[in-house]
Amino acid sequence: MDDCIFCQIVAGDIPSRTVYEGDDVLAFLDANPLAPGHTLVIPKDHHESLADLPADEGRALFSALHELTPAAESAVDAPASTVAFNNGEEAGQEVPHVHAHIVPRFSDDGGRPIHALVS
Ligand code: C5P
Repeated sequence: MDDCIFCQIVAGDIPSRTVYEGDDVLAFLDANPLAPGHTLVIPKDHHESLADLPADEGRALFSALHELTPAAESAVDAPASTVAFNNGEEAGQEVPHVHAHIVPRFSDDGGRPIHALVS
């Protein structure tokens, strides 16, 4: 989709700090990180919401999350992480292209729950 910022990142038209690229999935560091190592994991094809995501692409996304979540934690020596989707505008989804946030969490970050972390 021409006017989708994440599609432009997938196409290489907008620079990003890529941490993983597979056939169906791209992961890159969030440009406005909530914590060191904050990573976005997206399907390469444009789908606005989780309900729009075909099942095979959903499996590929979850498989990537399964690998990338511990990798993001260990990259910044974090003991935990918050993994979240803002699914829909009313839920705070600003970029209408499905994406998971992996936000590494630290023992001194206050243990704030997901709703205080991801807007
Ligand atoms: O879930 P939501 O849509 O609110 O999050 C979008 C995320 O995309 C934000 O965390 C924002 O920092 C990130 N972003 C980015 N690079 C861009 C545009 C947005 O990392 N060029």
